[in-house]
Amino acid sequence: RKPRVAVVFGGRSSEHGISCVTAGSVLRAIDRTAYDVVPIGIATDGRWVLESGDPERLRIESADRLPAVDGSRASIVLAQDSTSTDLVVHEPSQPPQTLGEVDVVFPVLHGPWGEDGTIQGMLEMAGVRYVGAGVLASAVSMDKAYMKVVLQAAGLPVMPSVTITRRQWDRDAQGCREQAAGIGYPLFVKPARGGSSIGISKAHDPSELDEAVETALREDPKVLLEVAAEGAREVECGVLQSLDGTPETSMPAELRVGGDHEFYDFAAKYLPGEHTEIDIPADLTDEVAAELRRLAALAFEAVGCEGLARVDFFAFPDGSLVVNEINTMPGFTPTSMYPQMWAASGLDYPALVDRLIQLALQRDTGLR
Ligand code: ATP
Ligand code: MG
Ligand code: MG
Ligand code: MG
Repeated sequence: RKPRVAVVFGGRSSEHGISCVTAGSVLRAIDRTAYDVVPIGIATDGRWVLESGDPERLRIESADRLPAVDGSRASIVLAQDSTSTDLVVHEPSQPPQTLGEVDVVFPVLHGPWGEDGTIQGMLEMAGVRYVGAGVLASAVSMDKAYMKVVLQAAGLPVMPSVTITRRQWDRDAQGCREQAAGIGYPLFVKPARGGSSIGISKAHDPSELDEAVETALREDPKVLLEVAAEGAREVECGVLQSLDGTPETSMPAELRVGGDHEFYDFAAKYLPGEHTEIDIPADLTDEVAAELRRLAALAFEAVGCEGLARVDFFAFPDGSLVVNEINTMPGFTPTSMYPQMWAASGLDYPALVDRLIQLALQRDTGLR
């Protein structure tokens, strides 16, 4: 029979809606002649529901009209089959029949509880193959503070930053303000474990720090104060493993925000009609482009990623490069950077999805 792929999307993070949009694209692109597909939504309250096979409702319309998983519907559980180690889907209100053995889970989830090693750990426990990075690489890449520790240990350049926690802020805000002054303004204030720029702001001077910290703390009790990469261009690179495990890199892409966006914020990323311009390939010298691709593959391996990742960089006028961050489950709609970079590099969207599933099918579950 055809391998059955569970596309799991939505989830508990603030990137729920973006995950749904990504899932809509993946569901449209999976080759149904090669795979059976089981769409599974995770509602924002954490409940799992079996979704209809129709991806058409999973589209972005406007900032306040992102699709969502309806958690009021009958919830399901994923459990191990009593007769095999396969993960099976049960609907508890129904007679105990399996809705399908699942060969591969494609966790199209962004942010905490999905891109951070948690669902990966659950699947490892169950011995189920899945797309993308494993537990450690997901967790490290999700946490910008630890990500920098690992990248620096591998000799990769990152922007200097300090990490503060809600506890430190509540007890000694003045001490935190002094740490920010040590970094120097302008600086970026970011939730340690976030994505889609949610909770990120630029503090131009000390008067803007408190509000920026409060904004980031609403997303995560751990926050980075980071030196702003002033004058740098933003360039991204896709990494995708070949079937023999080699991390291959895409053509780099540059993005330039326009309109009244000072940086690549949520609206500039996703909303139609915004003024973000994308150059693929990025207009870099051959040397800088080659170096960027080398660093992207190094970052992928330093963290121990699997499958795919998008590595975000700052490119300075003198040709130097700094790694901003790694995303282990990058935005994945056809207009997202990651698939566009691969399309320009000769791998179209359906082929990309297929490669990821094939890589997952090769995964060692440790079960014999
Ligand atoms: P993603 O959606 O890529 O996962 P994220 O929420 O993890 O995003 P970052 O990529 O770290 O966040 O930052 C989002 C954007 O904020 C960057 O693309 C860039 O425009 C801006 N930014 C972040 N940090 C800096 C910095 N140190 N200097 C300049 N710009 C920055
Ligand atoms: Mg990110
Ligand atoms: Mg992200
Ligand atoms: Mg980013």
